[in-house]
Formats: sequence, structure tokens, C-alpha cells
Amino acid sequence: MKAAVFKGMHEVSVEKVPEPQIQQPTDVVIRVTVSAVCGSDLHLYHNKIPGLLPGAVLGHEYVGVVEEVGSQVRMFAKGDRVIGAFNPACGICEFCRRGAYNLCKNGGILGYGMAFGNLAGTQAEYARIPFADTTLRKVPKTVSDEQAIFCGDILTTAYGAVKNAALVPGETVAVIGAGPVGLLAVQSAFAQGAAKVLSLDLVDERLQMAEEFGAIPINSSKNATGQVMEQTDGIGADVVIEAVGGTPTILMAFDLVRPGGRVSTVGITAEPQMTYPLMSSLVRDLTFRIGVANILRDIDTTLRLVESGRLQPERIISDRFSLDDVPQAYQKFANRQILKAIVSIN
Ligand code: NAD
Ligand code: ZN
Repeated sequence: MKAAVFKGMHEVSVEKVPEPQIQQPTDVVIRVTVSAVCGSDLHLYHNKIPGLLPGAVLGHEYVGVVEEVGSQVRMFAKGDRVIGAFNPACGICEFCRRGAYNLCKNGGILGYGMAFGNLAGTQAEYARIPFADTTLRKVPKTVSDEQAIFCGDILTTAYGAVKNAALVPGETVAVIGAGPVGLLAVQSAFAQGAAKVLSLDLVDERLQMAEEFGAIPINSSKNATGQVMEQTDGIGADVVIEAVGGTPTILMAFDLVRPGGRVSTVGITAEPQMTYPLMSSLVRDLTFRIGVANILRDIDTTLRLVESGRLQPERIISDRFSLDDVPQAYQKFANRQILKAIVSIN
């Protein structure tokens, strides 16, 4: 089969690789219909995530049709149209049993290398999905593949970031980053009751889309803190969502949040450490939350909100690519020439 393969920094090629097989009785193999390129793939592209070997199949966002079913799979049959989490989970370890699927002892991240379970990715004609009964959902009839794909990662990541911040209806949310995740955090904040959402980015076209979603756009290249204070009666935002990744924007979040407020970070970084603003957090009574998204906690909610039209993630799709053109999708996305690349496969 054909698949997008990592070759080294800034090098992706489309090659023939062996088709995935059922390896465990809890696996399914799907024929991928739609995949996508994610901001998280860019960290791999920039060679910032250790453990992704040359030759690995990339990609972790997917919708597909079940092709083959392991002997212990009970919920799915050949022909089912399915969406699944980027981070498969076993459903039976002590973390899964507590609902912390993102901490599954037996899970990993598809297409993310040796440090994340060494699972092949989904920018491919076929993909093996481990722990299918826990990881997958059937796509509701009225939801298209291009809508559903967002529920397996970035929409649910964004929705969960807002939920992790314990948003109270009527509050003001500032979202740092108006990339795909940040824009869907804007939609999610409104869906969870925010009265006002501020969207911060350096790229004006991205801010324009945030404005279409009802947010107040703020170009953060100049005096981000001052602009946010102006919008919040001088106290700061109740909740700040960080959707970029890394120390500078996390520290920016601490500057933008009000005393007693909550910072919720979903941006991915490989930086081992950051200097924490300890005393100001103490005095200002701040809450800081960071983690890999718990997709399987919230995927049923986001699927229903997409089905009802309350969330409209497909509005951020800017470009569609064939599998053969995935290398171009990486290049253009890395250069911020496109907002969200969908890969149409079968
Ligand atoms: P992206 O790279 O397309 O978007 C990042 C945005 O941040 C861009 O629009 C960029 O212009 C903006 N930005 C950069 N520096 C900035 C600054 N100083 N101030 C304001 N804006 C700035 O990526 P994305 O797809 O939107 O993903 C965002 C982050 O979320 C990535 O780090 C991605 O890996 C991460 N992510 C995390 C999870 C998780 O489980 N925690 C899941 C999905 C994605
Ligand atoms: Zn992703």
C-alpha cells in the first residue's frame, strides 16, 4: 500500500510499504478514507520528537471503514465507518478504568515513534487500530468524514482544554494561538458558555477566522498583555488556553490570566523544563493544567455537538490533498501557507 513516510528532518515521501495486519485479537484494520496533517505532525517534521525513525508511517488523524476485525473485537464489523482517537487506549488498565484514557499503560500515539508505542500512522491507505472497542466510534450517519475526523484529535483536544479549565458560563477566555487547535478552542469556549473569547496570534489571516467564529482578534506581536487587559477591565482573562506549545506562550498565559484564574495548556513541547512563575502564582492563586488530550473522555460529546451543528470544525479546512501530495501539505503547513490540510485517500 501507499503511505506517507518520515525520512528525516523536513523530508516526507510517499512510498510502498507492507499493508498492516491484525497483530492482537483486539485490533482492527481500517481502510483510511480521510486523514489530515496536524500541528503535532509538525513537531516530528522539525525533528523535535525523539524516537521517530526514518521509514516510519506518519499521521494520527483518521476516518475509515473497517476492513478486518480481530477475534476479540465486539463492537465493530467489516464495513463500519469509524472515527478514532489519535491515542488508542486499552480500556482495562487502572488509568483507563479511572477515565484517564490519555494515561493508558498500554496505549500510545499513532504515527509518533518509539517513545509513543511504536505504532504506524494513518497517512496511509490502511491502518491498524489497537484496542478497537475502546479507541473507535461509529460515525453518525449525518456526520461527514471531514467533520468526524476532528473529533479524533484537534476538536476534542480543544474542547477538553476548555473543560480542564473548569469554565463557568459567562466567563472570558483568552486563547493563545489561532492555528487549527486554537480556532477550535474558540468554538469550544463558546459552546461551553464563554461570554467573551479573545483570540491571540501573530498571523492576521488566522485571526480573521477567529473573528468569524465570534472572537475578538488580538495580534499578539505588540503588547499582548495590554490588549487583553483592555478587554477585561484591567484584570485579565478568567481562563487562558495555550494552543501553541513551549515556554514563551505558556509564560504569556500567566501574564494574561486574572488572579484566581486558570491556565490550560495543550501546546506540545519537547522542552524538558521551564522556569515556573512560582511566587506570582502563589500570590495570585493561579491554576496551571497541562497534558496530552484525553480524547476518549470527550469524543462522544464532541461527536454529538458536531452532529447537532453546535460545533463546526470543518470550517477550518483550507486545503485538500491526495496521499501522493502529502509531502507538499507538510511543507505548506509548516510555512503557514495553509490552515488545515485534509488528506483524501480512498
Ligand atoms: P499550528 O502550528 O498550526 O498553530 C500554532 C499557532 O500558534 C499558529 O497560528 C502560530 O502563528 C501561533 N503562534 C506561534 N507563536 C505565537 C505567539 N508567540 N503568540 C501567539 N500565537 C503564536 O498548530 P495546531 O495544529 O493549531 O496545534 C497547536 C498545538 O497543539 C501544537 O503544539 C500541537 O502539537 C498541539 N496539540 C496538542 C494536543 C494534545 O494532546 N495536547 C493535541 C493536538 C494538538
Ligand atoms: Zn493531531
